[in-house]
Amino acid sequence: MESNGLCRFCDIVKGKFHYGDIDKPIAHNEEFYAIASIGALVEGWTLIIPYKHQLSMRKTYVNPLFLNLAGKVLPSLIEKYGSVIAFEHGANKEESITACGTDHAHIHLVPWEGSLFYKRNNYGMKWDQCRASEIADKANGKEYLFYAELGGKESWEDPLGVIHILENPTSQFFRKIIAEQLGRPEVSDYKIHPRLSVARQTRNTLVAPSF
Ligand SMILES: [Zn+2]
Ligand SMILES: [Zn+2]
Repeated sequence: MESNGLCRFCDIVKGKFHYGDIDKPIAHNEEFYAIASIGALVEGWTLIIPYKHQLSMRKTYVNPLFLNLAGKVLPSLIEKYGSVIAFEHGANKEESITACGTDHAHIHLVPWEGSLFYKRNNYGMKWDQCRASEIADKANGKEYLFYAELGGKESWEDPLGVIHILENPTSQFFRKIIAEQLGRPEVSDYKIHPRLSVARQTRNTLVAPSF
């Protein structure tokens, strides 16, 4: 799939940085890169992104180069910030509101102690256990939300998480939950609250001096 030429994540691949140094990858290999997330509600919030413009990560979790990049990013995330959760808002069409404002696939890696699901009655939604490698089959072309707790694991190891199949698109689902759990629901929309200083701090903390 081609981007429409207005894709920030494709531009990063071309070396065009909309947010200056914040957009410079923390780590990369031949097919993936990682950046500090704009709009981070906690420091350390990182995205892993394929170079290729695609709508979701559903077929990507088994790519050895994805595993390679996760294995580069997770050790420093865990060393600096502790436990990590991972989640994806898996879209299936351009301009879906599920996709957090970008049509370019990415997974969120967020330092977080405990569970977003703790005592939350599963948000009144149906979630099935799912390994990352099973998402493509389980979602079967539909949009989905995927969440996994990586804890202190320093490599991807096909985590067992949960998946919710979306019947209707939903916007920034996990961001809203995190903002709520931090007691700051008003900052959940990253387009209104880009919080660039947090992203800058994440990058400064995680970036390898040689990069
Ligand atoms: Zn793109
Ligand atoms: Zn997202």
